[in-house]
Amino acid sequence: MTKLSIKDLYLKSKRVFIRVDFNVPIKDGKVDDDTRIRAALPTINYATEQSARVILASHFGRPKGERVEKYSLAPVAEHLSSLLGKPVTFATDCIGEEAKKKVGALKDGDVLLLENLRFHKEEEKNDDEFAAQLAKLCDLYVNDAFGAAHRAHASTVGITKHVKKAAAGLLMQKELDYLGRVITNPEHPFVAILGGAKVSDKIPVINALIDRKVDKILIGGAMAYTFFKAQGFTVGKSLVENEMMPTALEIMKRAEAEGVELLLPTDHQVVDSYEPVKGDKIIAKTIPVEFTNAGHAGMDIGVETVSHFANALHDAKTIIWNGPMGVFEEPPFNEGTISIARAVAEAADRGATVIVGGGDSVAAVVQAGVADRITHISTGGGATLEFLAGEELPGVVALNDK
Ligand code: AMP
Repeated sequence: MTKLSIKDLYLKSKRVFIRVDFNVPIKDGKVDDDTRIRAALPTINYATEQSARVILASHFGRPKGERVEKYSLAPVAEHLSSLLGKPVTFATDCIGEEAKKKVGALKDGDVLLLENLRFHKEEEKNDDEFAAQLAKLCDLYVNDAFGAAHRAHASTVGITKHVKKAAAGLLMQKELDYLGRVITNPEHPFVAILGGAKVSDKIPVINALIDRKVDKILIGGAMAYTFFKAQGFTVGKSLVENEMMPTALEIMKRAEAEGVELLLPTDHQVVDSYEPVKGDKIIAKTIPVEFTNAGHAGMDIGVETVSHFANALHDAKTIIWNGPMGVFEEPPFNEGTISIARAVAEAADRGATVIVGGGDSVAAVVQAGVADRITHISTGGGATLEFLAGEELPGVVALNDK
């Protein structure tokens, strides 16, 4: 790490603004999945143990620059307080008099959570005046929101121009460490598993992986249909990005030229139309990919594909996985993704370094009960992909060098 770390800062009695990623699912006013909150605990605990006065700030959902009650972070303050085992004060706005007063009242080791940054449109605009107001609340700035580091916003980039020191938090450091090792010096065989809907989102990372001599790329999810259709196969009503078909062909050519094995599904679960996907009324069947007809919509990889993909991992030493293998939100089309979660966990048990990123893949390892066997669960979706594609993350670039 070339960037300043929270461990390089003298924190005692300092007001420390920690940008966290508390963009978590909330149901009926309660936190439904606290993975991201827990991921920030090492940094928060470190800061309070060092007697810092901790100010936490995060975005949550897309309130589009206005106060929208369902996007309030108030339930998170309550949940965090139970995780930390001590009170967490909450300010109903991230700037202004109340926030200033509550920051002023903090004693060494206290924690305050500010309301959703995105209640102000200036946040996403990286507005300098707004960034300066955030900076006025603190003495030191720490960014622990890896998942938001690919966005140049006021709380990730703008604020760093107005603080004495801007450092990486422990989670940010851990992410950069693991992902950095994968892109600079992966142990081979190196296998990437990519899924989800959008080929367009994953092109830069596929190209970067081919450049970095990945050994195999396994493609599942709707992405696979763009590759199939581009080769002239019938994909029926499966989700396809038509404009990406030439790119898919180019990728296949590049992979072949560079000796990268590119594996696509051989069978899949289909429904007869996209419409009848409603709970228990789904009638799905597993068929070989070449049997797909004009009425079929492919929803998940089949068992044969799961087994091919698992075999492709047998001697892997490095595995990265991003994106679901099917319509993960609609059981039974989560089965392929859950099976891949088990397969990567088994590879980790055999000694492979396994990095899983992206909301659905992370949810799958949690649902499969294998999360603790995965080497590193990345909290970033887009940020992880951009980092793996070799792009510089503005939120990281903005931090001070050591
Ligand atoms: P992405 O944002 O590109 O990672 O895509 C994630 C989305 O891909 C999830 O919401 C999945 O439901 C969707 N997805 C995965 N496989 C399929 C498929 N076969 N058909 C339609 N959507 C899919």
